[in-house]
Amino acid sequence: MSDINRSLTEIVGEHYVSNQPEELYFYARDPGLMPPHKPDYVVVPKTVEEIQKIVRLANQNKIPIVPMGAGMALTGLVIPLRGGIVIDMKRMNKIIEVNEKARYVIVEGGTSHGLLKSYLDKNYPRLRHSIPDSPATATIAANVMIHGQGRLTQQYGFNSDMVAGLEVVLPSGDICKIGSCSLSPDWFSKGAPLPDLSGLFLGWFGATGIITKVALKLYPRKRMRDVEIFVTDRGNLVPDIIYELTHTEMVEDINIFTQPLPMIFKDNHHITIFMTGDTDEELEFKKKLIFGALDRFIKGKDGGFMSVGLAMKQTLLEMPQRSVSRFADVKKGGGFEYSGPILLVERYLGCTRKLVELASKYDLAYSAMARIIGRGHCMMFGFSFTFNRADPDMMDRVRKALQEVSDYALVVGGVFWKPTIEEQRMAIEKMDPNTWNLMKMIKKNLDPDGIMNPGNWEVA
Ligand SMILES: Cc1cc2nc3c(=O)[nH]c(=O)nc-3n(C[C@H](O)[C@H](O)[C@H](O)COP(=O)(O)OP(=O)(O)OC[C@H]3O[C@@H](n4cnc5c(N)ncnc54)[C@H](O)[C@@H]3O)c2cc1C
Repeated sequence: MSDINRSLTEIVGEHYVSNQPEELYFYARDPGLMPPHKPDYVVVPKTVEEIQKIVRLANQNKIPIVPMGAGMALTGLVIPLRGGIVIDMKRMNKIIEVNEKARYVIVEGGTSHGLLKSYLDKNYPRLRHSIPDSPATATIAANVMIHGQGRLTQQYGFNSDMVAGLEVVLPSGDICKIGSCSLSPDWFSKGAPLPDLSGLFLGWFGATGIITKVALKLYPRKRMRDVEIFVTDRGNLVPDIIYELTHTEMVEDINIFTQPLPMIFKDNHHITIFMTGDTDEELEFKKKLIFGALDRFIKGKDGGFMSVGLAMKQTLLEMPQRSVSRFADVKKGGGFEYSGPILLVERYLGCTRKLVELASKYDLAYSAMARIIGRGHCMMFGFSFTFNRADPDMMDRVRKALQEVSDYALVVGGVFWKPTIEEQRMAIEKMDPNTWNLMKMIKKNLDPDGIMNPGNWEVA
């Protein structure tokens, strides 16, 4: 492997390649529960040409490659299961172009959500993108790769639906443009009216190529945001409430949280409704329609709006909302992991019951956060459990609880989001065999030697 080390050093320079144990230790794991596995090398390239050279080198020598953003997916997707080279994308963080009138931005493949947000805040205060609640270091390319969701998901779908074009380094080392940018200087569409080839890459966890540029659609940023919380103890009514809320088309984002502590939260479902406006009048108008839509639930004594104090408002309006991981006590070494299947909103009550049942069975702290996707077309239901890293027994109990969540998700018609290797296996087993055959054909043709993030969507 020393020849490989020399070649990698020639490509990226000596400061940006490592096979030192302390760095390999770090890149062997993510903050979730998956067992670690060491890479042989870590490289941190700066240009697309460097990535091409690394991929070609890996190809010639049949060495696995794992592209990595911030490593925050938590489900082991950046753990190099077969060793090889981890390509850390974080130096490729340029914001290349903003087209203000056509509302899109082109960024490099390692650009973080936090960087884009602060850039837009400063330079384009009338534009925004769909920010997930992951730590601000999470990268845009990886987030769309795993079909992430953010603040604009209730309006526009998965964050990957907001992609307007890609540049990808294929496993052969060739660069490929996807979308309008393949024949136009303008990056306004990832597919239509052409065949939409973005599906050859998005959702594949880097197993078919490395995204080196992403064009992302931007949306109007209103001057004000506000949040209200509708509380109900009738979990069976949540799908109806969501139906009425999404019907108004007045909402920015809808999250539902339920958790056992503090005691006043127990057994209640908190439907958190975000809205935006350029003026007080616009906000008031939207609120009026939203309150009106839920009137029948209030009159029926099935729920009501809780008063949200200033401190709570500020916490909820943060982007990203850091409070989502606070229950894990990360500062004291605590961790949390969640399984977030995508499924119908009408499965909401069943999911909350399952979560409470599993928390009690395995003696775990829990919380649930559901995010509505599209106009109630589906939701991500996050089954979250905390653990103490110094307590292997507790970590094992969380693993077992999450395994049961996976089984349950499939039974109720869910589809895994950012699935672990085991969940990918379960999905493949359940999938229409012809769909799986098509996926195998795609993978075999793009990556015949199986060097790209091997283990993921693996050809059996
Ligand atoms: C507290 C917390 C809150 C979260 N909230 C949300 C949320 O609200 N919404 C949400 O969507 N997610 C959320 N997440 C999950 C996750 O952090 C995000 O989805 C995040 O965007 C993943 O980005 P990353 O850079 O960390 O990805 P990584 O974990 O680095 O990578 C994810 C996958 O993408 C592949 N990949 C990375 N870069 C590339 C590339 N350039 N080309 C090809 N493949 C690549 C990797 O190999 C891996 O398979 C949350 C996580 C935490 C810890």
